[in-house]
Amino acid sequence: MHFFHIFAGITTYRIMAETEKVHCLIVGSGPAGYTAAIYASRAGLNPVLYQGLQPGGQLTITTEVENYPGYPDGIMGPQMMIDFEKQAQRMGADIRWGLATKVDLSQRPFKVEIDEEKWIETDALIIATGASAKWLGLPSEQRLNGHGVSACAVCDGFFFKGQDVAIVGAGDTACEEALYLSKICSNVHMLIRRDEMRASKVMQDRVLKTANINVHWNTDTVEVLGENKVDGIKVLNNKTNEESIIPVKAFFVAIGHEPNSVLFKGILDMDEAGYLITKAGSSKTNIEGVFACGDVQDKIYRQAVTAAGSGCMAALDAERYLGALGH
Ligand SMILES: Cc1cc2nc3c(=O)[nH]c(=O)nc-3n(C[C@H](O)[C@H](O)[C@H](O)COP(=O)(O)OP(=O)(O)OC[C@H]3O[C@@H](n4cnc5c(N)ncnc54)[C@H](O)[C@@H]3O)c2cc1C
Repeated sequence: MHFFHIFAGITTYRIMAETEKVHCLIVGSGPAGYTAAIYASRAGLNPVLYQGLQPGGQLTITTEVENYPGYPDGIMGPQMMIDFEKQAQRMGADIRWGLATKVDLSQRPFKVEIDEEKWIETDALIIATGASAKWLGLPSEQRLNGHGVSACAVCDGFFFKGQDVAIVGAGDTACEEALYLSKICSNVHMLIRRDEMRASKVMQDRVLKTANINVHWNTDTVEVLGENKVDGIKVLNNKTNEESIIPVKAFFVAIGHEPNSVLFKGILDMDEAGYLITKAGSSKTNIEGVFACGDVQDKIYRQAVTAAGSGCMAALDAERYLGALGH
């Protein structure tokens, strides 16, 4: 909407962003956001949900999910998230494509800017923005990103079918991605900085028992090699100080995730890693009426089922908050 403002005799032309008022806004479309949308819809809160850049969230980059209750035969992650979305839609949630780009939580209703062009005013806000992959920070990793360097083995592993690849990381995600790659690639070189992994014992056992995964202990990545595409990695054994080159066609980074909380920096309480802090046993943040759920506030469990559970909590907390206000 465009307005002409006349002030003190001077005509100023101002572009005012479009504003829409909603009752309950949910930001994020992973298991937490969609579950919050299901509960909020059924409670009559008419939620509007913005999906962000990754509709369906992190599970859209994995293959089979075997640990989510209710799927006795397992389910592919992307399909599971389509099911979540359909269920939220069936309950009446208004699911939209769009990214929250700014927030103003200093007064009620809260204001959330979408795609830098539109403001949503909301009585209650549920934050379910999840987490994003971390990178090593090497210039060569950045230069070759998308040309053999990837943070998503499931998305890009297929392009390197039958070839040798490397993966860096020592947690459950790294193990899961190494196992995925081992099924499609000839050899998987797994680079571990220390002489032990952080991953759960069951995941470590699976990796160590997989014949075509070659674990390199005490190994740092020095450089990703290649002009326009990856053709090797230079590594350093940090015990012997020996450098060597491993010829590979792809380099996968699986060193963890960062909570997507930058929008709320200086506004909501968060820990030193950026995870939003919620009050024990609830989804309540330090601002009444603003709730957080899923991986953006959970650095311990980080599972689909815990994210969904906390999404349910956030919707119930929002319902009670709005009920107490008489909405
Ligand atoms: C490779 C891999 C395999 C996994 N396998 C399993 C498994 O087998 N079982 C299991 O239980 N868990 C698994 N997990 C973990 C699980 O995916 C996460 O715990 C879960 O997805 C977290 O859900 P979430 O809703 O908190 O956030 P996410 O899934 O991270 O979703 C975050 C959402 O927020 C949106 N968003 C972010 N910023 C904005 C913004 N500014 N505006 C609007 N939207 C925004 C994103 O687009 C996205 O939709 C796996 C994770 C990975 C990476």
